[in-house]
Amino acid sequence: MPNDQALAKTAVSSHPNRPSKLRTNRLLQIIGLTMFGLVLAVAVASGITKWILLSGCIALALAAIFAYQKRAAAATVVLLWAMCLMLSALAYVSGGLRDLALLGYPGVLVFAAMLGNSRLFFSLISFMLSFCAVLTYLAISGILLPVIPTITVAHFVFTAVILLVTGVSVYLLYRDQQRLLHTLQTENHRVKQSQAHIEHLALHDPLTALPNRVYCQQHYQRLYNHCLNGQQRLGVLLLDLDNFKPVNDSLGHAAGDLLLQQLARRLENILSENDILCRFGGDEFLILVPAFSDDEALAATAAALLQQTTAAFYIMQNQIEISGSVGIAIVPQDGNEFSEICKHADLAMFQAKADGRNVYRFYHDELNKASIDKFNLLKLMRKALKQNEFQLHYQPKLILSTPQVIGAEALLRWPQPDGSMIGPDDFIPLAESSGLIVEIGQWVLQQACLACSRWRQQGYYNLTVAVNLSYVQFRDGTLEQQVLQALTAAALPANALELELTESLLIGEGDNITRQLTALHQLGIRFSIDDFGTGYSNLGYLRRFNASYLKIDKSFIQSLSLSERDEPLVRAIIQMSKSLGLKTVAEGIEDGATATRLALLGCDEGQGFYFAKPLPETDFLGYVSAELMNETLAANPE
Ligand code: C2E
Ligand code: CA
Ligand code: CA
Repeated sequence: MPNDQALAKTAVSSHPNRPSKLRTNRLLQIIGLTMFGLVLAVAVASGITKWILLSGCIALALAAIFAYQKRAAAATVVLLWAMCLMLSALAYVSGGLRDLALLGYPGVLVFAAMLGNSRLFFSLISFMLSFCAVLTYLAISGILLPVIPTITVAHFVFTAVILLVTGVSVYLLYRDQQRLLHTLQTENHRVKQSQAHIEHLALHDPLTALPNRVYCQQHYQRLYNHCLNGQQRLGVLLLDLDNFKPVNDSLGHAAGDLLLQQLARRLENILSENDILCRFGGDEFLILVPAFSDDEALAATAAALLQQTTAAFYIMQNQIEISGSVGIAIVPQDGNEFSEICKHADLAMFQAKADGRNVYRFYHDELNKASIDKFNLLKLMRKALKQNEFQLHYQPKLILSTPQVIGAEALLRWPQPDGSMIGPDDFIPLAESSGLIVEIGQWVLQQACLACSRWRQQGYYNLTVAVNLSYVQFRDGTLEQQVLQALTAAALPANALELELTESLLIGEGDNITRQLTALHQLGIRFSIDDFGTGYSNLGYLRRFNASYLKIDKSFIQSLSLSERDEPLVRAIIQMSKSLGLKTVAEGIEDGATATRLALLGCDEGQGFYFAKPLPETDFLGYVSAELMNETLAANPE
């Protein structure tokens, strides 16, 4: 794609030296031509006329030098004044106002108008008029009697020289002007063309050549007015591709670009000519469907869009399959403003994604209410964080064979004004999607480290604390620093802190996370894989975690007490874990039988309501000291 601004710029100013170069060349030509005429005239002239013509030649030579030095203005002044004075002198010494030489005046004025500036032109014409007036006065008052010579061949030569020099020069100058005009016209045309091109670029997406967001809004206004005037409705469909990122990541951006281009052509083909298809963002297309007959028609369009999206693409010898989700909003029932209707189509599209993707959903007011609820919840969460309203509860972790308390898992709680407690499952997903989890997570790390440090100061030297981490906390790359700060502020050794991660963390994100995990591992911090069994359970991922513990998800542990069906699975996890050199932790132990069974299966540690629920810090310490007492009693029954 040519750089249009540069194009426009060159179009306007192409060869800025050309006119002035042309001008000096022309000047040199005119001077040469005049000189040639003067030499001819000198040859046929006699007496004082000859001397006047000769001085004219000398002045012309000076003008030629100036022109040669590219001093066009000086050359013009010298040339024209020399001609004017020479012609005036010739008239004065000969025929006065009737002299042939005055024939040359108009020629000099034409040159002045074309080559010189207005000052030169007006000073010359003033001089000529004044000189003619003087000649007239001198003749009338009898002071100077004009000599009317008899006609000789010399007169013909003078006349011919004046006509030729003036005529040819004027012709050349006129041709220059014509050419200049032509060049200007051509350049003007090119500027207009590039302007149109720039305008096109500003309104279209360069990749698919479809109207972009800005142009889409203009189309929307036009169709909006049209539909409302005719009491018709305008459908707005937002198509978002479901798994486009992996195409870009695995096959490269060139393949992704080709896919978008092919999809754009497919969609264009199935839409009717009144519909407008726009590229709205990376993998988002917006379709405006004016004056549709009924909701079924709109649904049929959405289904057709999805069908085109799911049909296989063949790109760079690869067969690629993707899908899309479509959100539909209708004008005027769902809104009037472009931004509002797009937001509603977006909400409907998110609903389509939430409903399993590759479907379309119509906007309805409940969606907006849900989004407002989320917005309010986020506001409350920010306030809670600022005003230190969150709390941490601690669920004891025990060695199953003894059972002895070795530490606790810190679990976030949000107490409400009415005394109830919002559990993390209800607000952490929103904290993650909004990014607020980074700040909340930092607060959790700090508080958990401080708490563990307090326990140790009270004599429970070996207690450790486990903190849950969200994948979002790895994104901004400050986690290592946050962990270090929390440990330092609490004067807690790194081996007292354990971080709980889920396997999903490593899917897709790769190197950036592995690097941070390695750095944390080198500090001496231990990791456990949380919720094991529910995710990918991929051994390759486990190795990248550098994990020390594997936490079997509570769903397997709970069903252990209900049926024997899951026991082989739990047994297998424990054995695999051992062979990888990892310790196993069972979470969600709700009864003594499960605890005993797990201990027999070789599971190292456990936690669950059977031992204790997540407790406020003081209750947790109470639990630890009671357990210690029991242990002591068990060891020394007296
Ligand atoms: P998780 O990491 O799997 O935490 C264990 C969950 O199981 C906790 O739920 C705990 O209260 C519950 N639990 C423990 N023992 C039993 C039992 O015997 N039976 C049953 N039915 N449940 C038991 P909670 O506290 O509601 O936490 C839910 C999830 O929220 C956690 O699951 C964790 O993923 C997340 N979470 C909690 N605190 C934090 C935090 O500080 N940061 C992050 N990123 N996530 C957190
Ligand atoms: Ca956990
Ligand atoms: Ca868990």
